[in-house]
Amino acid sequence: MTTAKTILVASHNAGKIAEFSALFTPLGVTVTSAAERGLAEPVEEGETFEANAATKALAAARASGLPALSDDSGLMVDGLDGAPGVYTADWATLPDGGRDFNVAMQKVEAALQARNLQTPAQRGARFVSVLCLADPDGSTAFYRGEIAGHLVWPPRGDKGFGYDPVFQPEGHQRTFGEMSSDEKHGWKPGDATALSHRARAFKQFVEEGLGLPSDTSR
Ligand code: IMP
Repeated sequence: MTTAKTILVASHNAGKIAEFSALFTPLGVTVTSAAERGLAEPVEEGETFEANAATKALAAARASGLPALSDDSGLMVDGLDGAPGVYTADWATLPDGGRDFNVAMQKVEAALQARNLQTPAQRGARFVSVLCLADPDGSTAFYRGEIAGHLVWPPRGDKGFGYDPVFQPEGHQRTFGEMSSDEKHGWKPGDATALSHRARAFKQFVEEGLGLPSDTSR
């Protein structure tokens, strides 16, 4: 994988694309994205992170002829029976089709309040990231990362994206929204630890050495 020069990130989510760029840069790999290339955004109808990750990666790999890496991720709240889960992005959807994650965080908080879940122990949650690497020939490989923590209210911090301001990873006093990108991911090539779900999945992707075909510079 370290011989690859360019990888297509199968995403239209600016926050995710920026995070992948930060993760790939130390490896000397340039990131291009489905958004940048104007590829269509496939409909995600799967009931698992793996199914949705495969849908996105395969669509981008087939459309571009490049190996494509997707991320399907979400927030699973223990006290809400794992919701919003694969519907994490949908909870932010507005009537006009736009997305507002302040609204989404408020919905999660309202659901916790409705169940009278107040203490950190009652407000356990985890972020999950499943990466799928797809080749244009249709082969796929999956890498999964998770980070446990709890949800805070009100939101804290203006860094990151999505639900970062309400998620405090276990063992830390700050939310992801209060951490720099380096702190949130906590991983660089050669380091032993990774913090964020995406960095943990990414570390697995790198270490398993399945990597990319040698010529990804097309
Ligand atoms: P999808 O994987 O594009 O279907 O959407 C996953 C959604 O989960 C994103 O739109 C974010 O709102 C949320 N999410 C995933 N990873 C993170 C993260 O690292 N921080 C905050 N929110 C996240």
